[in-house]
Amino acid sequence: MQLEKLNTILNTASICYIVINPQGKIEHISLECIKLLGFSADNLKGGNISYILSEPERKTQEVINSLTTEGEKRMLSLKKHDGTTVKCAITSTKLEKSNDNLNKTYLIIEKTLNEESHAQEYEKDLLQILMDNIPDKIYFKDRESRFVRINIAQAELLGVNSPGEALGKNDFDYFSKEHAKLALEDETYILKTGKPIVNKEEKLVFEDRPTKWVSTTKVGVKNLNGEIDQIIGISRDITANKIAEQQVVKALEKATESDRLKSAFLANMSHEIRTPLNAIIGFAGLLNETNITEKKKNKFVDIIITSGNILLSLINDIIDIAKIEAGQLTIIEKPLDLNMFMKEIYTFFNEQYKRLDDNLELILKIPENNQNLIIYTDSNRLRQILSNLISNAYKFTDKGYIEFGYQYEEAECLLHFYVKDTGIGIPKKKINLIFERFGQVITDHTSKNKGTGLGLAISKGLIQLLGGKIEVNSELNKGSEFKFFIPAHFSDSKKIKRKQDKTDINSINWSGKHLLVVEDDYNSYNFLKEVLMPTQIEISHVDTGEKAIELCKNVGKFDLILMDLKLPGIDGYKTAKSIKEFDNKTPIIAQTAYALNEEEDKTLRFGFSAYISKPIILKDLLSMLSDLISKT
Ligand code: ADP
Repeated sequence: MQLEKLNTILNTASICYIVINPQGKIEHISLECIKLLGFSADNLKGGNISYILSEPERKTQEVINSLTTEGEKRMLSLKKHDGTTVKCAITSTKLEKSNDNLNKTYLIIEKTLNEESHAQEYEKDLLQILMDNIPDKIYFKDRESRFVRINIAQAELLGVNSPGEALGKNDFDYFSKEHAKLALEDETYILKTGKPIVNKEEKLVFEDRPTKWVSTTKVGVKNLNGEIDQIIGISRDITANKIAEQQVVKALEKATESDRLKSAFLANMSHEIRTPLNAIIGFAGLLNETNITEKKKNKFVDIIITSGNILLSLINDIIDIAKIEAGQLTIIEKPLDLNMFMKEIYTFFNEQYKRLDDNLELILKIPENNQNLIIYTDSNRLRQILSNLISNAYKFTDKGYIEFGYQYEEAECLLHFYVKDTGIGIPKKKINLIFERFGQVITDHTSKNKGTGLGLAISKGLIQLLGGKIEVNSELNKGSEFKFFIPAHFSDSKKIKRKQDKTDINSINWSGKHLLVVEDDYNSYNFLKEVLMPTQIEISHVDTGEKAIELCKNVGKFDLILMDLKLPGIDGYKTAKSIKEFDNKTPIIAQTAYALNEEEDKTLRFGFSAYISKPIILKDLLSMLSDLISKT
């Protein structure tokens, strides 16, 4: 019978067999046998029978010899593709010598399912169930680092539909070259040394999915000969931990940076506070000297006032940044004549800097078609932002021009403000830094450009509170342009109160008018008494709210009351309320050292006629008193 015909018959009869030659070379393998062992025909055909013999039978010529001996029945363990073994009864049948079948032996294989095998099968099933229900990724690899068995979690990681799809493949088929190479190196190390690799962090980069991190333990599995012929790997997904860890590292870096900025700030602040204080204390002391000329005296007073103002603006900045960060800064919107407001800012800066800087021109650009544009905004905060940007422009520009202005972007209903200069510019990589609190490009300042690094952080915070955003374009040694956009809210122009300048003290005559000052701080009271003396106004003074109520009730009529809000006993609010109960006409002005917007709003709600914050600027006080006295 022809060999092919014989094989067809045996295969059709579902006989499990292998055909070998006298040297053990596999010539043919039946479909049943392929099913039993799990290898493909191509894997085995041409190979030696010893490849599928389990230890210790493997490699022994004697076993091969006995297999090729006709009629012999042997119990042998055959190795399966998944690394397990199956015990079989093998009967050898030799074909007669003829031309086309040179000494071929048919090995008829019967799987023996004895008790031990049942137990093995059961354990195998149990192991599979266990593996497939564990979230960790588990895989077995052969000595060539090919997957021979994997669980469902590993199949998911590899991105295959079922564990079977990955069998025979290796890491290079699924992972980046870098990872596959490292994994192979680890496995080669295990095969060589027999030592496991425990909890090694691995980064898995995929083309189509986010990167994952796993912690992997790999152990070599020894066969009966004591040689490692498989590797078991278990990988635990630690991506979430890794992300958390990276976040902690970032937070730590940020905290360290913030700490560094704070230390730099404290050092800077200590210097910034001490310098003006030093001048104030030093020159105030010199004023006491008897033989001092009038000219020198005026100079010292000027220095004391300037230093006091520097200190005040520093304190205001610190309060602002703290309030912005605590989310406690409120915006109080009122109607504002925008063009007039811009012109006031222009006049202020032009007067202040013109005499100092001849090389610098300040330009204001107002759109011609927007005459009398009345917007609804917080003018104090808007002034603060523009002043910060313009002062910076002066600080960092030596020559050329500083231009500021605004445009109304009708399509988006936005007001676009800008401040442009021809100064030193800002390096690209520092652009984000400058908006951080205490962030400065140059930290060793000359007297012209010294600062605390708070201005832009405050401006950014204020612009956000006004519902807008800030941007900057800058080129080193060419200049910078800061622009910010805020939503445009328009208002009714009639509500605008235009300030009149009534601040020339020599032209004021308030004789016959009577002012009550309620103030517990004697320095503040003495200051008021001194500055108002030329107006000839009569001044009475009490230092508590209770005394003020008493005086108003019994002695009577004052034309104006200037009330400190923080008083011992009942405070300024309660005092004003009590006075209002029996005298609703006399205007009461609130004065406080809390330079907060909300405070102003609160005083107006409590029935005060006006509000002035300390330190009192004489010009503002005179203007306010004039307004109120003219109504009495
Ligand atoms: P300060 O001016 O007090 O240092 P700011 O927060 O206002 O603080 O500014 C932060 C930093 O941004 C400045 O120290 C400076 O390095 C940079 N900067 C701001 N405005 C300009 C400008 N117009 N030109 C160049 N650099 C600027």
